[in-house]
Amino acid sequence: MDQIETVVVGAGVVGLAVARALALAGHEVLVMEAADAIGTGTSSRNSEVIHAGLYYEPGSLKARLCVRGRELLYRYCAERGVPHQRCGKLIVATSDAQAGELQRIAARAAANGVHDLAPLTGADARALEPALACVAALHSPSTGIVDSHALMLALLGDLENAGGLLALLSPLKSALPSVERSHDALVLVANDGTEIAARTVVNAAGLQAPALARRFQGLDARHVPTAFFAKGNYFTLAGRAPFSHLIYPVPEAAGLGVHLTLDLGGQAKFGPDVQWVDGPDDLVVDAARGDAFYAEVRRYWPALPDGALQPGYAGIRPKISGPGEAAADFVIQGPAVHGVPGLVNLFGIESPGLTSCLAIGEAVVALLHAR
Ligand SMILES: Cc1cc2nc3c(=O)[nH]c(=O)nc-3n(C[C@H](O)[C@H](O)[C@H](O)COP(=O)(O)OP(=O)(O)OC[C@H]3O[C@@H](n4cnc5c(N)ncnc54)[C@H](O)[C@@H]3O)c2cc1C
Repeated sequence: MDQIETVVVGAGVVGLAVARALALAGHEVLVMEAADAIGTGTSSRNSEVIHAGLYYEPGSLKARLCVRGRELLYRYCAERGVPHQRCGKLIVATSDAQAGELQRIAARAAANGVHDLAPLTGADARALEPALACVAALHSPSTGIVDSHALMLALLGDLENAGGLLALLSPLKSALPSVERSHDALVLVANDGTEIAARTVVNAAGLQAPALARRFQGLDARHVPTAFFAKGNYFTLAGRAPFSHLIYPVPEAAGLGVHLTLDLGGQAKFGPDVQWVDGPDDLVVDAARGDAFYAEVRRYWPALPDGALQPGYAGIRPKISGPGEAAADFVIQGPAVHGVPGLVNLFGIESPGLTSCLAIGEAVVALLHAR
């Protein structure tokens, strides 16, 4: 049976960032990816926003890894020539009640170490963005956008330069404890029956991470959270974008509200909304959902023309909290929690997972080296 020191399961942006960090820390790393290319999962179905770290519970992994990850990501993109833009965003209140909510967001951001938010009156906001309707806003200058595919290619390049390997079309089926306990290894079984022994395994399978973890023999099922799937649909705007900043409404329960984001080519899209679905494969955008988008968007952009929105794409949030529950934090679960030597599970890596990817890589290295 082949042996390798470390296997990372999943070549999304998080798996690649973790694999890169482990390879740079001296591990011999193999990334096993089920698909025929990197980044075909949630990592290519998101808003590509570099989040500042405003909304998350202070002290949570989401808050800490977003703020740290954002700093690391801007630096990394500059060093490696990954296209990105620090375009800034406006969080807009369209009623007096929402204006109070802006103060709560600013206080939470400060608790998370984000001190660059500027409160704006409606007139200030319209001076920046004349098409905007709002009574007040917050300006976040450290929010930006990134080309997530270029980012993943750069991470893969670093991994390979550090001696790491990527195996595409290599779905992991299950893992068993090694009979040879002195090696503390896990035996990984691929779908085609191939077996490989690894001392360290990082489960970065995104939407599939809980289902995969249930197929790890020796891992107590009580450590595996229930997976929930919250689809986010996007509609693209035909024609020129009316804004140069990202525009976010005050957040709603399970997402950040139907916001406007721009890609690096200046194309505007609206979304994602929140549609709870039963599984991870339902990625078709139902054009009928567009009606609700017109109503949401016209709260802050009343001039949105009829017929301007086209169904775009959808991504599914890898949730570990269900409808009506408070959003769960990221879970980075090592042997100290579940007792299986060498195994790290990443659960619930929804937004801001893209922003946090390099910080998640650091955290996994620290966890494994603290053994
Ligand atoms: C609608 C939406 C909008 C978002 N917007 C943002 C944003 O603007 N900013 C931000 O910071 N974050 C955002 N996120 C979150 C971000 O996209 C994710 O946190 C991130 O992409 C997760 O990356 P990942 O590598 O964990 O998962 P994925 O990209 O899903 O990668 C998992 C990989 O594992 C592979 N895999 C699964 N099972 C197996 C197996 N058994 N064997 C081998 N391989 C397997 C899959 O094929 C896949 O390639 C958004 C998410 C969504 C859904």
